[in-house]
Amino acid sequence: MNTERRNFLKSASLLSGSVALGSIIPAGAVWASPLFEHKKGKLTLRYRAYTLELKHAFGVALNTRKTTPVVLTELEYDGLKGYGEASMPPYLGESHESVLKFLGKVDLGQFKDPFQMEEILDYVDGVDSKNTAAKACVDIALHDLTGKMMKQPWHKIWGFNADKTPLTSFTIGIDTKEVVLEKMKETEPFKVIKIKIGREESDKMMVETVRSQTDKPLTIDANQGWKDKQYALDMAHYLKEKGALFLEQPMPKEMPDEIAWVTERSPLPIIGDESVQRLADVKKAHGIYHGINIKLMKCTGMREAHKMLTLARALDMKVMIGCMTETSCAVSAAAQLSPMMDWADLDGNLLIKNDVYDGMTVVDGRITLNNLPGIGVKPIKVKKG
Ligand code: MG
Repeated sequence: MNTERRNFLKSASLLSGSVALGSIIPAGAVWASPLFEHKKGKLTLRYRAYTLELKHAFGVALNTRKTTPVVLTELEYDGLKGYGEASMPPYLGESHESVLKFLGKVDLGQFKDPFQMEEILDYVDGVDSKNTAAKACVDIALHDLTGKMMKQPWHKIWGFNADKTPLTSFTIGIDTKEVVLEKMKETEPFKVIKIKIGREESDKMMVETVRSQTDKPLTIDANQGWKDKQYALDMAHYLKEKGALFLEQPMPKEMPDEIAWVTERSPLPIIGDESVQRLADVKKAHGIYHGINIKLMKCTGMREAHKMLTLARALDMKVMIGCMTETSCAVSAAAQLSPMMDWADLDGNLLIKNDVYDGMTVVDGRITLNNLPGIGVKPIKVKKG
C-alpha cells in the first residue's frame, strides 16, 4: 500500500461518522455515511456518499430503478466553499465505492491557485482513465469555488444571456398505462414532455397515453433500445406525426452505420446521447447524428461540457443539455450552460424526494437562473432528528 493510500485511509477512518466539522456538505443534514477530508496545502476537498430516493420507479429501455447513488463534494479555499456532485446511474459503470476510491487518489494540495483550472482538471482527468462522474464532482466544486471568488455566476463569466434559457422537458419513464396517466398529473408546469421508450411492445402505448392527456410538444428518448434500423426509421416518422421535436439515441452506440442510415432519412433530428460521452466523441458523432446531448456526468464536468458545446456549434450540430437523477447541485451547474442550448432536459432534481440544495428553478416550464455566484446553489438547511 502506498503512502498516499495509507494517508487517505487514516484520514478517512479519523473522520468516519463525524458530523462535528461544522461545514459539512450541506450543513444540518442527518447523514448515514462518513465524511472524508483531504486537507493539504490551501485546497481542502471533502466528500461523502449519499443516496437519492426517486419519487417514482424510473424505467428506461434497459432497466428500472428507485434510487441513484451520488457523492457530494465540497472544495474549500481561503474560507470560500464550492459544491460539487457525482451522480452514478448504473449504465455509467460507477458506484459509491468507485467514486470514493477515485477521490481518495486525488491530491489537490499540489495546486496553489484554484484558477489554474486547466492544470487542475487535466491532473484530475489523468488520475484514472474512466470515472467521469467522479471527475465531474471535482470539476463542479472547482467551478463553484472560482465563480464565488470572482463573485459571478458561470453563465455570466462565459458571456451567456440568462434571458435566453430554453424550456426544460419533464421526463416520463417507461411504465404501465395507469402509472403513466398518474405521472402526467405532475407535468402541468412543463411545456415539453420527454417520453422514454425503446421497448417495442410498449413504444406506441407510451406515446398514445401521453398524447391522450396533452398536446404539448414531445421529445423522445429510446436509450439504445431498438436493434432494427427500419423500425427506428418508421418510429421517427410516427413520432414526427405525434408532434415530437427530436429522437434521442434510437439504437445502440455500437451500431453507428445503422444510426447514420436512420439520421439520413429521418424527418426528426436524431440526437446522440450514450454515443457521445466526451469531447473527442463530438467529432465522431458528426455525420452520424444531427446533434448531441451533453451531460456533466459523462464528460467530466463544466469545463469539457463548454468545449463540447463550442465544437458542436462549429460543426453546425444541434446541442442539448441533459442530466442524470441528481440534486439541484449538479443540475444547477448544467443549467449555467443552458442559454446556449437548443433544448434542455434538466429535471433530475425534480424526480427525487431528498434534494439537499436550492438552485436553479423552473418557471413556466423555462430554466430560470439565479444571480448567485458560481453554480448558483445553496445547501438546504435540513433539521436534525
Ligand atoms: Mg438520453
